[in-house]
Amino acid sequence: MSKLDCADWLAIWDHSQTLPPALQTCALLAPLLADGLAGAERLPVGRRDAHLLDLYDALLGPQLTAMACCGHCAERLELNLNTADLRLDDPAPAAPELQLEWQDYHLRFRLPDSRDLAVLAQWLNNEPATDIEQARLLLVRRCVLEAAQGARPVSPEALPQGLLQALSEAMTQADPQALIELDMCCPACEERWNEAFDIGSYLLESLDHWARRTLDQVHLLATAYGWSEAQILALSPQRRARYLERVQS
Ligand SMILES: [Zn+2]
Repeated sequence: MSKLDCADWLAIWDHSQTLPPALQTCALLAPLLADGLAGAERLPVGRRDAHLLDLYDALLGPQLTAMACCGHCAERLELNLNTADLRLDDPAPAAPELQLEWQDYHLRFRLPDSRDLAVLAQWLNNEPATDIEQARLLLVRRCVLEAAQGARPVSPEALPQGLLQALSEAMTQADPQALIELDMCCPACEERWNEAFDIGSYLLESLDHWARRTLDQVHLLATAYGWSEAQILALSPQRRARYLERVQS
């Protein structure tokens, strides 16, 4: 991870902007994984998010701040967190496929990954009237590899609600890092609720701020000294900060 320098991260940030939102975090992980972008896209969402937490730690340190808004009184909340607070103990690689028995049904399935989320996002974009059941069915169609009642094959559309609920629970249990919820309590009205926290969008936003700040610094130093972008990015952060102090004083 430390082998990548400032110029590398700017190039990765550039490339991520060209991808659909659900695949942007995969572009950040691609240089760090042996099987690159394809491998990142195939990671179950929770495993991907565990890698993203490690990446956030390595790039920006362990501190992060979650923002939320109270649904009862609209108070804005700021929650200071550490990446360790968000990491669950399940580093084992996910099995490529899992099985579920429910009553006399038998399912073979895989865990949802970023490609599934990208297809789902595109579909929701094209069909804004989609309800949660239809969205769930789309994921079931993609992730269920085989379904049978006794010896008789069953299509995903014909699976009973109870089985779909059991499948959803089995997926969460097999990949718990995919759903991180924060315990929130409003200081103004004492309303309590769970707020989902998505490390992917938080990391993308943080990287975006860092990239824009870095480009501002390149612009100031290039204007003042006539140095190239490559020369400025090769300066250590400390030395770059010293020159910026001189330019801005
Ligand atoms: Zn409140």
